[in-house]
Amino acid sequence: MNCGTCGREAVTFIRYNGTYLCGEHFSRYVEKRVHREVRRQGLRLGVVAVALSGGKDSLACLYLMHDIVSPHRDKELHAITVDEGIAGYRPHSLAVARKHCRLLNIPHHVISFQEEMGLTLDDISQMRGQLGECTYCGVFRRQCLNAKAKEIGARTLVVGHNLDDVAQSILMNFVNNDLERMARMAPHAHVQPGLIPRLVPLRGIPEKEVTLYALLRGLEVLEDECPYAVRAARGAYRGILARLEDSNPGTRHSLLNSYLALEPCLQDLFPPARLQPCRSCGKPSSQDQCRVCQLLEHLC
Ligand code: SF4
Ligand SMILES: [Zn+2]
Ligand SMILES: [Zn+2]
Repeated sequence: MNCGTCGREAVTFIRYNGTYLCGEHFSRYVEKRVHREVRRQGLRLGVVAVALSGGKDSLACLYLMHDIVSPHRDKELHAITVDEGIAGYRPHSLAVARKHCRLLNIPHHVISFQEEMGLTLDDISQMRGQLGECTYCGVFRRQCLNAKAKEIGARTLVVGHNLDDVAQSILMNFVNNDLERMARMAPHAHVQPGLIPRLVPLRGIPEKEVTLYALLRGLEVLEDECPYAVRAARGAYRGILARLEDSNPGTRHSLLNSYLALEPCLQDLFPPARLQPCRSCGKPSSQDQCRVCQLLEHLC
C-alpha cells in the first residue's frame, strides 16, 4: 500500500484512524503529536531531565526532547538513569543509555538503589515476602529520579510513558478503586515543594508506534525483558487492553480521553496533598512516613 500523504511505499497502517504512512510521514506524524503534547503540558525554563532507562521508549523520548530543547538557549537537557541492580538486565541498557548521551552530548547522571537505599533489587527479590519486586522498584525508582533531578537543579522531569502504559495505569486505577492515585498521574500542573513535576510527552503515542519511530531513527530496540516482569500486576492489564484494542481499535485513546475529561473533577476531589517531612528520612511525604521507608521497614 502507498502513503496517504505522498504516495510512496507505506511502512505502516494506523488502524485506529485508517491511514497508510511512509517512513518520513509516519515520523512527522509522531513528532507533531509529541511537540503538541509538550506545548500543552508546558516545559519550564532551565534544566530538563529525561528519565533514561535505555529502553526504546526512553531513548525515543530523549531524541524527541533533544529536538525540542536544543534550539532554546534558556533550557538544557540532561538524562538520568536509575540502576536498580538487576544482574543480567540493567547493565546492557545502562551501556546503551551512556552511548546515546555521548552521541547527543547530553550530561548523563546515574543513581542506584544500592547507593540510595543500601540494597539492590536482586537483594530485595530475596527478602520481599508477599509484595512483588515491581512494587519496590516503582516506589524506589520514583524517589531516585526525584532525588537526582533535584540534585542537578532540574525543573522538569520527562518520562517516556507511552499510550499503552498510560491506558493500563488508568484501567488499573479504576479496577483498584484508586482514584487518588489517578489524580496524581503526570503531567503535574501543580508544583509541590521538594517534588520535581513530571511531563509525559509520549502519552498519546501507542507502544508499537514508539518502537517503529525508534527503529526508523536508527535507535536500538532492546529485546531483553526484566526477569521480574513475570510477577508484574500490569501484565494482566496489558493482555486485556491488547485484546480490546484488537477488537475495537481506538480503545487506548478512548481511555486516555475519558481520563482527561474526568481530570478536573479528580483534581477537585483530591487536591494536592499537604506534604510533610517523613519521620524516618525527612523527605517530603503525604503521610507521617514515606512509602520508601514503609517498604524498607517491611523488608526488615
Ligand atoms: S518489570 Fe518491575 S522490577 Fe522490572 S524494571 Fe520494571 S518495575 Fe522494575
Ligand atoms: Zn509519505
Ligand atoms: Zn522516608
